[in-house]
Amino acid sequence: MYISLIKKKILKYFLSVFSAILFFGVPHNAFAQEKFTVVLDAGHGGKDPGKHVKKYNEKDIALNIVLLIGNKLKNNKDIKVVYTRNRDVFIGLKERGKIANDAEANLFVSVHCNAHHTQANGTETYVLGLHANKQNFEVAKQENAVIFLEDNYKEKYAGFDPNSPEAVIGLTLMQEEYLDESLLVASYIQNNFTKKLKRVDRGVKQAGFAVLHQTYMPSVLIETGFITNKQEGAFIGSKTGQEKISTAIYDAIMEYKKHLDENIVIEEKLKPIVKKPAPRIYKGVNFKVQISSSSRKLELKSYNFSGLKEVTRVKQGRHYKYYYGNTSNYDKALKLQKKAKSVGFNTAFIVAYKNEKKVSVSEILKSSQK
Ligand SMILES: [Zn+2]
Repeated sequence: MYISLIKKKILKYFLSVFSAILFFGVPHNAFAQEKFTVVLDAGHGGKDPGKHVKKYNEKDIALNIVLLIGNKLKNNKDIKVVYTRNRDVFIGLKERGKIANDAEANLFVSVHCNAHHTQANGTETYVLGLHANKQNFEVAKQENAVIFLEDNYKEKYAGFDPNSPEAVIGLTLMQEEYLDESLLVASYIQNNFTKKLKRVDRGVKQAGFAVLHQTYMPSVLIETGFITNKQEGAFIGSKTGQEKISTAIYDAIMEYKKHLDENIVIEEKLKPIVKKPAPRIYKGVNFKVQISSSSRKLELKSYNFSGLKEVTRVKQGRHYKYYYGNTSNYDKALKLQKKAKSVGFNTAFIVAYKNEKKVSVSEILKSSQK
């Protein structure tokens, strides 16, 4: 009697769900995943040891550090961790980017070690860009050299010669839109290394790293130290050193997440404090809020975007960018961004267009208004 009542209840439940699906259709929200996704990329692996001196292999040190960071991140229930490798295997640079793009990650962090024939030491964090100097080029060249170990590298990296300074100039375009965010992450990392760990600061730098070129999200590459330096090699090669380095990187990732959560736009910080300012309207400029980037082409219906209307779509490379709103009023754009975040697009950020061309928001804000 009792059991049949439960059975009836279950049956009733399934019937109601089934009829709801018939009536409303399968739930559409394609962006149900709201976790902050971090892709951790341990440099090198397998047949590619990276730099190696005596007992120190870059591939092992990078993997240890990355796994330690991942364990810390996993303690946060709103963070998802994806590894490009979690063991000693060879993975091409392009595949690493694909893993990150497929995961629709919010951040890509690649971990490496430096080497030099001198006793050079210190940490540096790179974002993709032009080689400001020969030294940066040399670091990128060494990290890119792994391409030669990949099968069919000529087809895979058509037109890209890791040994040529000119070849990497064309590489920078895709990461450009994430430059501000990548620089911010890089500065958090370097700050923690120098302030908390008292490491030698070689700074935040730009160079043409092939692995950073493949991703569609803020991305950094960390050179955690020189295995060729007697003291530093011993530090980054040790368990204690790796634990400290992973904590510093973890803290930086959390700072970045906090920055996103608090909706602090970098430009806002640069803006002088004025009492009740007039709305910031920039004639001829279109501010939009980028809510998502996806390989999927979605219909521009509000049910696909948590109820947001006025969503537009732009194809860029293999991906579609989805924008919410369109206004020349920057303050209104901030409100739109807030609204997008409130319905679950946690990483929504503002972009600017002028004469159909994408322009830097911070440049626009620096320019005179109206
Ligand atoms: Zn490396």
